[in-house]
Amino acid sequence: MRAQLFMREPLCRSCARLGRVVLATERDHIIPLEEGGKDVDANVQPLCFDCHDAKSKAERARGVRRAWSGYRESDDQQPAQGEGGN
Ligand SMILES: [Zn+2]
Repeated sequence: MRAQLFMREPLCRSCARLGRVVLATERDHIIPLEEGGKDVDANVQPLCFDCHDAKSKAERARGVRRAWSGYRESDDQQPAQGEGGN
């Protein structure tokens, strides 16, 4: 499957859009599986390492933000300051 993709489309799709010719090394899910994407040909694109890395970081950042919004209520407790006094 991996070989098939690169045989069909050996160049990084993201770079090609910018007019660059870069050999693809990563098989990327256009819509990440975590975001409801399917593991099918139509949702898979060839990317070079750099484009894939940048895309995964953006996806991870989105995922982290999503996870964080669920943990909002456990905000840091304020350190009890200015409590002393005689
Ligand atoms: Zn690229």
